[in-house]
Amino acid sequence: MSRAIELNARATPGFEGRVAHAAALLQSAATEHLGAIVQTTSLGAEDMVVTDLIARHGLPIALATLDTGWLHAQTLALIPRLEAHYGVHVERWQAPAAETLAFVRQHGELAMRHSVALRKACCALRKLEPLARALDGRTAWVTGLRREQSGPRAAVPFRELDERGRGKFSPLADWSWQDVWHYIALHQVPFNPLHDEHFPSIGCEPCTRAVAQGEDFRAGRWWWEDESAKECGLHPGTPHNKEITA
Ligand code: SF4
Repeated sequence: MSRAIELNARATPGFEGRVAHAAALLQSAATEHLGAIVQTTSLGAEDMVVTDLIARHGLPIALATLDTGWLHAQTLALIPRLEAHYGVHVERWQAPAAETLAFVRQHGELAMRHSVALRKACCALRKLEPLARALDGRTAWVTGLRREQSGPRAAVPFRELDERGRGKFSPLADWSWQDVWHYIALHQVPFNPLHDEHFPSIGCEPCTRAVAQGEDFRAGRWWWEDESAKECGLHPGTPHNKEITA
């Protein structure tokens, strides 16, 4: 039995309603942005639930991930597993190799540990730049963000406009961690085995650690930094991120 399922998977009041709402939101998003919408998956538990909902309802939403060059082997191994499980293709977007090499030559392999500025520069290079290309030509994207994940995410809307005016959909915004694992157990959704080793939030290898019982959900991300700095810029939550409807 999976430890993550054993610890977390519990039916919580209103679960069926949240599943139905998430599926309906994805259906609307796919219709409104037909042929121009993508799920950007981190391959974490929430994103696997979103992928399952999309596949289960046969929705025309593409699937893309940011291959930063620093993903855990377990995360990389999940890509062919989910492709085989759902019969889908996962687009892999990477930073240009020459720019990555130049950054490492100039700042070192573990530049992200030297300062917040260098950590953010690494995220900009390995995440933000590939994300911009993944979204180029698309009018909407889907995320696995949940309000419960952290303070900065406490007001994540179901749908909003990002800083470029694209639709941004977060169908699990009101889901609990228990909802996520209840869904995974119920539908036998494939997931990253690192979740069984106390990694609730999984990012790049040098920037993610396991968390202890009672620690915050994102305590294992950039744990050497102040809480206020702990976002990579993918989801800035700036004032122009307006909720456009519930
Ligand atoms: Fe670089 Fe760490 Fe950001 Fe990954 S999470 S892009 S390794 S700083």
